[in-house]
Amino acid sequence: MPLKASERMKIPRQAMPEVPPDERRHHFREVNLGLPPEIASLEAKRCLACKNHACVAGCPVGIDIPGFIAAVEENDLEEAANILYAANVLPGITGRVCPQETQCEELCLVGKKGKPVAIGYLERYVADWARLNLKRAIAIAPPTGKKVAVVGSGPAGLTCAGELAKLGHQVTVFEALHRPGGVLVYGIPEFRLPKAIVDQEVKTLENMGVKIECNVVVGATVTLDGLMHEEGFDAVFVGNGAGLPVFQNIPGENLKGVYSANEYLTRVNLMSAYLGVQADTPVLRGQAVVVVGGGNTAMDAVRTGRRLGAEPACLVYRRSEKEMPARVEEVHHAKEEGVRFEMLTNPVEVLGDEAGWVRSVRCQRMGLGEPDASGRRRPIPIEGSEFEIPCQVFIEAIGTKANPLLTQATPDLKLNKWGNIVVDDNGMTSLPGVFAGGDIVRGGATVILAMGDGKKAAVGIHNYLSKATAS
Ligand code: FAD
Ligand code: SF4
Repeated sequence: MPLKASERMKIPRQAMPEVPPDERRHHFREVNLGLPPEIASLEAKRCLACKNHACVAGCPVGIDIPGFIAAVEENDLEEAANILYAANVLPGITGRVCPQETQCEELCLVGKKGKPVAIGYLERYVADWARLNLKRAIAIAPPTGKKVAVVGSGPAGLTCAGELAKLGHQVTVFEALHRPGGVLVYGIPEFRLPKAIVDQEVKTLENMGVKIECNVVVGATVTLDGLMHEEGFDAVFVGNGAGLPVFQNIPGENLKGVYSANEYLTRVNLMSAYLGVQADTPVLRGQAVVVVGGGNTAMDAVRTGRRLGAEPACLVYRRSEKEMPARVEEVHHAKEEGVRFEMLTNPVEVLGDEAGWVRSVRCQRMGLGEPDASGRRRPIPIEGSEFEIPCQVFIEAIGTKANPLLTQATPDLKLNKWGNIVVDDNGMTSLPGVFAGGDIVRGGATVILAMGDGKKAAVGIHNYLSKATAS
């Protein structure tokens, strides 16, 4: 007998099993353990399969959410996986890192009266099951004879490469770093997204015939023009992200012990500095670490500092917690792990000792004024409120922008005033045959939006190549 809506509404949202905070703050293993099957099927029963399925409108790639949840309820996980993969090629990743609370779950009808259906937890559940149990046979169209280059192997580049390979094109991904994955491997730490999951997705692409060439910096090792006119590529997708750190430009930023979050996280994640003496690339492990910022990057940096032994690991943010753009779960986890939150506070100077090492950060308290252009209340400095937080490491996580290396080497590529590449509705840039998407177009955004761009550009490239063949 199917459950009535009233019975479904009575089932409480199921919790994600986690490693206890006291244990996990000493290691980098994943915090969330995944739903056990009986809990996943109970959570699936909370979905009302409502007619207008509002949740789907909140998903940037339009997953058939009630469809895959109904399959979980029926314990038909293969069908659930097929539904998920039809819209999203990286569900094991998005199930872990998407900000569901501001996307699908925010619109979920059950959430109007209580807590929304845990769509992200269920997505991860199905993706993890599929990874271990399903040999996905991906249908590949006959070879088209067309060659496409993809610049950058983040979520935008990987998605675009996968979609193009399915359509029968020969795809080569050029990645500047020594390991593919973009922010998924150099930025987001293992305790949120195990690298093995990203590696498996890359392997799937390779099995589909995608070639991945690491240590190639397009714009330096080779140019876009060279790819198109010397290397014989028929089209290019640029998904090189927005990895250039922005600094506060306050006095003392050149002291030893100041990092951008990107450098700090790259050292720890990509270069494995958390392994200590076994790693070739070191990282400073200050007794006290201060991180400035309120997004996911800031949260990842401060929780990383905590795991490397910082006491305190302190997060400084100039607005209040309500305005923080970080995922709610990460804020909650950071607090559980003992991260100190200094809200409505802004660093104004980094202070050093005689040897040039950071000794503290001078901060100022802030009040909140009227909303600014971002819609959030504007932080206003409070006169005479300055104080110092002693620390040995200071990490800036206030944002990133487009790295000009590739775009400066390609002067005809049209950019906006922030240096991001301008594209049309099909994802094509001002250069015929050159497409772009992800953070290099949007500025720092999200994994799922980057994937959506990669998918859209793949369609644009396919149409462009088909027209070129026809004419
Ligand atoms: P990227 O992931 O940045 O990948 C670009 C790739 O291009 C990189 O591998 C880079 O090395 C390579 N590249 C750059 N220049 C060149 C060149 N000239 N030649 C060749 N290769 C080049 N989003 C979420 O949705 N949820 C989260 O929880 C989340 N947490 C985050 C945590 C951190 C620390 C950071 C930094 C970002 C986070 N984001 C999160 C944002 C998200 O990761 C990005 O929006 C997304 O990765 C953008 O994808 P992309 O493919 O456009 O670029
Ligand atoms: Fe299910 Fe919520 Fe989507 Fe309705 S809005 S179909 S209850 S997940």
